[in-house]
Amino acid sequence: MPVSDPRFAIGLDLGGTNARAAAVDAQGRILALHKHPLEQRSPEAAAKALSRCAAEVLAQVRRDADCLGVGLGLAGQIDAATGRVLVAPNLGWRDVDFRELLSAELGRQVHLANDLAVAALGEASVGAARGFRDAILVFVGSGIGSGLICDGRLYHGARGLSGELGHIKVHPGGRRCGCGELGCLEAYAGGINLGVRAAELMAQGRQSALVFPAGLHPTMSMIEAAANEGDELSRELREEAAVLVGVAAANLVTLLNPSVLILGGGVLTGSPTMRSRVEEVVRQNAGRAALSGLLVVEPTLGDDAGVIGGAFLARG
Ligand SMILES: [Zn+2]
Repeated sequence: MPVSDPRFAIGLDLGGTNARAAAVDAQGRILALHKHPLEQRSPEAAAKALSRCAAEVLAQVRRDADCLGVGLGLAGQIDAATGRVLVAPNLGWRDVDFRELLSAELGRQVHLANDLAVAALGEASVGAARGFRDAILVFVGSGIGSGLICDGRLYHGARGLSGELGHIKVHPGGRRCGCGELGCLEAYAGGINLGVRAAELMAQGRQSALVFPAGLHPTMSMIEAAANEGDELSRELREEAAVLVGVAAANLVTLLNPSVLILGGGVLTGSPTMRSRVEEVVRQNAGRAALSGLLVVEPTLGDDAGVIGGAFLARG
């Protein structure tokens, strides 16, 4: 009888509201999981919350010696060589030496990568793209990003900055994006920006059935509901976003020739209409030869993609 490998790695996930840790075995099974609310978003507070989660998970597993390493996915741009977080807009961080900070807090060396790169690694290892050597994960949520698995490995790029699909330019010199640059895909089709654009267009006199408090903007679920009720402005914004995301994903397919394209994220999950329209646009615009045999699928790891991917990042 084969003896199962007792070794495991710890995957960490840092969201806007929670820190999470899981001990994950070689098959991607979660042996122990712990979540801790993120009371403050400072790097020091985040490192402490993550370290507390990791300690809790290690206490549950009770086999420190079998721990192969620790990996973290974080929503931001991370310099792979130095482990510095160059920018993490959701956390409000800029140029933070987080790998050093977290490694010191944990007493272990931590592997660090962008959250969607890590999610792609999880999906490719034991999720929607398991068994395929070439896969692309495209996520549309409040922001937009991607993770690239090329020839069986996570593709990092020269500085670890690959996969920034939200910041490819779709209208050079256009709307200012959260990253500070102009004309990014995310500035037009990210969930937050769709709401901001709806509010801007209504302030300019466009009619719409959308209702939201003064000074705020509608959420993506409001836009989705209004679009489904026939609101013209909401339908236009949803359609434009689907086309922009679909063409960007199609271009990735043409460029990289993956076996699997995983389409996920809160905006696409919350809008089956947009999800199917994005897939349609991919099929209309990707290179014919690259489309042949392409699987377009949904992610399967859900909220666990971060911790599972983080564990596989630590395994190397
Ligand atoms: Zn940008």
